[in-house]
Amino acid sequence: MMTLEQKVAEVERVFEKLDGEIAQFRGWSGLYCPSGCGKCCFKADIEATVIEFLPFAFHMYKNGKALHWLEELKKNDSPVCRILNPQQAGQGLCSEYKYRGIICRLFGYSSRKNKYGKAELLTCEIIKNQESYPAAARTVESGSGKVPVMHDYYLQLYAIDMDLARNFYPVNKALKMALETVLHYYAYRNEA
Ligand code: SF4
Repeated sequence: MMTLEQKVAEVERVFEKLDGEIAQFRGWSGLYCPSGCGKCCFKADIEATVIEFLPFAFHMYKNGKALHWLEELKKNDSPVCRILNPQQAGQGLCSEYKYRGIICRLFGYSSRKNKYGKAELLTCEIIKNQESYPAAARTVESGSGKVPVMHDYYLQLYAIDMDLARNFYPVNKALKMALETVLHYYAYRNEA
């Protein structure tokens, strides 16, 4: 059985591999998120697993910010991601960009199999309107252009901890549950 620290390291390994595949995809496709966009972060129906926010919760705990974020999430009843910071300049609009979840990484740059068994590019309207989009979508469909497969990445998370990866929740609930998981883990250890 893996410790929490080992699970966090495994999830981060999956993120690293995904980030590498996304970089390759952006390289060959010419598709990209325009600087400062973050429009997808404002969606009110984002669903996520608890496990994908385990690194976020773990690092917040280590940096003494876990209780702060837990309180913020408890106060918040908006469906929009609570850790989003629209005032922020620079890398994305996420307050904790480095520890964002897998859905945040996959959005815009992933694929799934359609009902005919062919790969289909999953992306947003902004990217669909980019000049390189039609050619990139055809390349993905022909199977000759590599793009992260959403289902495969969720399976990798499932293999790390099926209980934390099995269910999808509204993003703020997933964030809250990840923080609670980490806080309970250390509360138990600190008492022992
Ligand atoms: S995925 Fe689309 S909406 Fe999200 S940041 Fe990129 S371009 Fe903007």
